[in-house]
Amino acid sequence: MEVKPLQVIYHDLYLTDYPTASCETPDRVHSIMAVLKRHYPVVEPVAASEDDVLLVHTQSILRSVRQDPDLYAAAAMAAGGAIMAAEMAFRGEPTFAAVRPPGHHASPGSHWGFCFFNNVAIAIERLLQKQLITHALVLDIDLHFGDGTDNFFAGRRGVAVANIQENNREQFLYQVEKALNSDEYDIVAISAGFDRHREDWGGTLTTEDYRTIGRAVREHASARCEGRYFAVLEGGYNTAVLGENALALCQGMAG
Ligand SMILES: [Zn+2]
Repeated sequence: MEVKPLQVIYHDLYLTDYPTASCETPDRVHSIMAVLKRHYPVVEPVAASEDDVLLVHTQSILRSVRQDPDLYAAAAMAAGGAIMAAEMAFRGEPTFAAVRPPGHHASPGSHWGFCFFNNVAIAIERLLQKQLITHALVLDIDLHFGDGTDNFFAGRRGVAVANIQENNREQFLYQVEKALNSDEYDIVAISAGFDRHREDWGGTLTTEDYRTIGRAVREHASARCEGRYFAVLEGGYNTAVLGENALALCQGMAG
């Protein structure tokens, strides 16, 4: 099937300097957008509602993030960006959401690792609750195990969470293919961390590998789920290479 042009989802609130670890800087998104805005149309999301957040998280998590209004505004907009990415992807429009804060270490009742709300889990759960989909694949290519997403969907029928944890690049790409060839799915969400790049913390993947991953997702999703796929930014800390790595993934996704 024909793939529609890729669009990038971005909001200035993703540049908020909320309190977090010193490596999780606004420069991360700034460096990505400096590259992506030259290649793709940019669309602005709306913030997730409290009800959206509560699809995945407890009241106590919502209340604790709410205590810092700047952080809450950014986190709600990050979840809103993932929701928009998933909704557009559902209509067959591939998207990359360049959000901060990231989300995959946010579990229903706890969070760590620079994450507050689980953006991807909220976006997928919303599609499930609306009965637009019954099956989903979350492909997490971040260096770190996405425990929050795994915890939320553990034991749930219909949602497969593939955390690719391989230090060898050929094996990593093989495991990506294997995940895409496995269970049934109506949509693919990429938890797009770039911290496994060879010039980032993980030291494994090349920039070209992100293009390969994007292409694999596009090809499988086109063949198996009407071209429904999207990516949401997770980790990645070397701002010198983040923009090119995000571009490579987007180019693979865009075809
Ligand atoms: Zn990470």
